[in-house]
Amino acid sequence: MKALLIAEYRDGKLLGSYQELMGFAKTLDAETVMFGVGVPSDLPDYAGKFHLAAAMHYGEFNPMVHKKLILSVIEQETPDIIVFSHSSYGWDLAPRIAAALQLPQISEVVDLKDGLPVVPVCNAKLRRTVKPQGEKYVVTLQAGAFNPPETGGGTAEVIEVADIEIAEHSISFHGYEEAEKGGVDLSKAEVIVSAGRGIGKPENVEIISNLATKLGGEYGASRPVVDSEWVEHNRQVGTTGQTVSPKLYVACGISGAIQHLAGMKKSEFVVAINTDKDAPIGEIADVLVVSDLKQFVPALIDKL
Ligand SMILES: Cc1cc2nc3c(=O)[nH]c(=O)nc-3n(C[C@H](O)[C@H](O)[C@H](O)COP(=O)(O)OP(=O)(O)OC[C@H]3O[C@@H](n4cnc5c(N)ncnc54)[C@H](O)[C@@H]3O)c2cc1C
Repeated sequence: MKALLIAEYRDGKLLGSYQELMGFAKTLDAETVMFGVGVPSDLPDYAGKFHLAAAMHYGEFNPMVHKKLILSVIEQETPDIIVFSHSSYGWDLAPRIAAALQLPQISEVVDLKDGLPVVPVCNAKLRRTVKPQGEKYVVTLQAGAFNPPETGGGTAEVIEVADIEIAEHSISFHGYEEAEKGGVDLSKAEVIVSAGRGIGKPENVEIISNLATKLGGEYGASRPVVDSEWVEHNRQVGTTGQTVSPKLYVACGISGAIQHLAGMKKSEFVVAINTDKDAPIGEIADVLVVSDLKQFVPALIDKL
């Protein structure tokens, strides 16, 4: 089985997400080749063939042009699986490639079971294993779902993607615009205490923010807490919120859905407080306190 991994560049810098694509391929035990539209001065740690198209020539973000480039590499390499990150770049390109090749596309893969992709369903409350029709398919991988290999094995063997004729197209790239961070930048906090749906009601946000203050940090929240408007969006941690890597992350009443973990799993030390001893957050937490947060957190604040 052969996988074509689609790396991404942003502002001339290779994004680290290519390593998770390698982790996916490793789990599948697939042979790999890689593709990216970028610059030769920033190459992946990857001991394999890297088809590099010059961003200066083809543009760093242009799905119509990049589609053509990827199709030319697919023609040469004949991969079985084409692997994108579940990012705005992947969302834009994966369906174009799948449609062009008449292949099935499986979006937001979070795991592999018996070699088959697993995706979340019912707002990530359940998971479904998907068996594509045929051997070939296109996937997008949820951030944080696949662990990068410890090493990529060295410098990539660069193969220049050149002489691809680009016809007139209707998309022009105008630049990147940073999302507004608002008043709080959790990515710089050394301690974060986050509130999950387990806090039960908006009045209990104060318990969480009190602990954060006591520990000299900031408070964050999971998405349901933000969706309920108990906490403002700029404090949301996860794939559709902020990515954080504090020294200490305290998850209060948070189950540990993959979309939340993707935003905080680089934290140095994780304490989870949960009434459910089997909550998935326990799998990545250094300490799991099995307790009602409404009792435990105020008691902890008193002790501190
Ligand atoms: C496209 C997409 C993007 C998403 N992006 C994000 C994102 O950026 N961030 C994010 O967080 N989620 C995101 N989600 C939602 C995610 O899938 C989960 O639904 C969400 O993370 C669950 O939040 P939670 O853990 O607070 O709630 P739940 O999953 O409901 O968990 C609540 C937990 O609290 C515990 N609990 C209950 N009462 C108590 C108590 N008294 N004391 C202690 N523990 C208690 C329960 O045992 C449970 O484990 C996204 C989903 C989708 C589909």
